[in-house]
Amino acid sequence: MTSIAPGTAANRLLIADLENAVGKQNVVWKPEDLLLYEYDGSIDRAAPRVVVLPGSAQETAECVKVANRHDAFIVPRGAGTGLSGGAVPLRDSVVIGLSRLNRVLDVDVENRVAIVEPGLVNLELSNQVSKFGLYYAPDPSSQKACTIGGNVAENAGGPHCLALGTTTNHVLGLEVVLADGSLLWLGGPNRESTGYDLRGAFVGSEGTFGVVTKVAVRLLRIPEKIHTMLAAFTSLDAASQTVSDIIAAGLVPAALEMMDRVTIDACEPVYHPGYPADAEAVLIVELDGLTEAVTEQSALVETICHKNGASELREADDPAKRADLWATRKGAIGAFGTIAPSYYLVDGVVPRTKLRDVMRQVKAVGDELGLTIGNVFHAGDGNLHPCILFNERERDEVRKVIQAGERILEICVANGGALSGEHGIGIEKKAYMPLVFTEADMDAMKGLREAFLNPQPEDESGAGGGVATGRSATPVSERFNPGKIFPGGASHGEAYGITEHSVRRSRRGDEV
Ligand SMILES: Cc1cc2nc3c(=O)[nH]c(=O)nc-3n(C[C@H](O)[C@H](O)[C@H](O)COP(=O)(O)OP(=O)(O)OC[C@H]3O[C@@H](n4cnc5c(N)ncnc54)[C@H](O)[C@@H]3O)c2cc1C
Repeated sequence: MTSIAPGTAANRLLIADLENAVGKQNVVWKPEDLLLYEYDGSIDRAAPRVVVLPGSAQETAECVKVANRHDAFIVPRGAGTGLSGGAVPLRDSVVIGLSRLNRVLDVDVENRVAIVEPGLVNLELSNQVSKFGLYYAPDPSSQKACTIGGNVAENAGGPHCLALGTTTNHVLGLEVVLADGSLLWLGGPNRESTGYDLRGAFVGSEGTFGVVTKVAVRLLRIPEKIHTMLAAFTSLDAASQTVSDIIAAGLVPAALEMMDRVTIDACEPVYHPGYPADAEAVLIVELDGLTEAVTEQSALVETICHKNGASELREADDPAKRADLWATRKGAIGAFGTIAPSYYLVDGVVPRTKLRDVMRQVKAVGDELGLTIGNVFHAGDGNLHPCILFNERERDEVRKVIQAGERILEICVANGGALSGEHGIGIEKKAYMPLVFTEADMDAMKGLREAFLNPQPEDESGAGGGVATGRSATPVSERFNPGKIFPGGASHGEAYGITEHSVRRSRRGDEV
């Protein structure tokens, strides 16, 4: 699978076959149009060979078969809001864009299940089922743009995943296209299923196992009461202590989010929230459930906030006022544009009890490298989101930003945390996998991928599994989303000429 220049005979044949499968108007191949598909929300980029926009699951399967016949790699793409380079098409891939598959196909109100297409925008699902008193819980802060398919592939979280769990807890079944172009369901609309949990394996596989074409999701009843509280503190330590105290008191709020001083400064001129001038941190605590329980829990949270010296406490029950309290948090990342033209959002996880220490260390990294870092994050889950603010056009700054990202992830891992809370590994973190996983761990993961990609038993000639329809000339172990998750190949920052990453140590202490 070598690089194919646009306009070559090989590419023209591929384009013609894809046009036959989905119609001329749904194949994007002009270089100026392909620019849009070179990147996601991260800093890495690569040009696709061609982009195809199927209009049904069957057409998606047909596109996979065409790609097989042309020996091409495939990258599924939702809205391109991913933050780890997942949808960036390495190795001349055919991008299968799912944006036309954007319908809610069925809502079973009684059983609280919906069947949706993968290109449906996350927020649209809750909007469409709210008339039944239902909602879809996982709510990434990007929910106005990101798609359910992208959420499944990244096992996305969000502010309201603290109590209710991430995407995997809300997906009952998936219809997928595998490498041979076959369509099958993993799990289904029923809550109970027996056998291996292949659905569970597929969620979070970052587009490396196949293409999701339908999703059966669990819906929840809109709670009787939702109470949102916003507390300002004069120190980050006091806000972090409040997070620990709330959890230690046995409460599991629906959301427990934090913003630091840099974030507050970015938001003030955009949303004018009027936080106290001495606020160094703002916490948002949301409680939901039965009215009586929420009232009791709110009183307890108030007490904890005051005990930790909250300088201001705002509270709201009605939807418009609650949305006001959420506005800065939900729009914070966009507001960073008031400080710098670009941001790089690091996604690490640490045990909640380590939040204070780790945030100090993150600040020290920024100070040492001369970078401004804002923090806006899911504090209840210990899911940090240090947002490094910089100018993408200054190559030296990009180099420092990548270095800072590496250092922050190392700090998270050294503190007992993980490489990613919700944004996935993609290109961004693949070089750091040995920080957490041994070779044997990664081989086991690759073995699972192999099982999805080469599902057929060896034939009598010993030719091995492989692609049944339009058999490929090359092994298909990276048919879908090549160069992601595992170390090797194109590296993070390569688009900026950055190829070397600082030496680090594996779990066993070896240099990697
Ligand atoms: C401002 C901002 C805030 C964010 N906040 C959050 C947050 O709170 N929580 C969170 O988890 N994430 C957050 N994200 C990250 C991002 O929105 C999520 O990772 C989201 O799930 C990506 O969805 P997408 O449709 O944009 O997918 P894309 O970026 O298009 O793709 C992401 C990955 O999914 C794969 N993929 C997409 N569709 C399919 C499919 N149908 N079948 C198989 N694979 C597929 C792609 O190959 C790629 O690997 C945020 C991003 C931004 C820009």
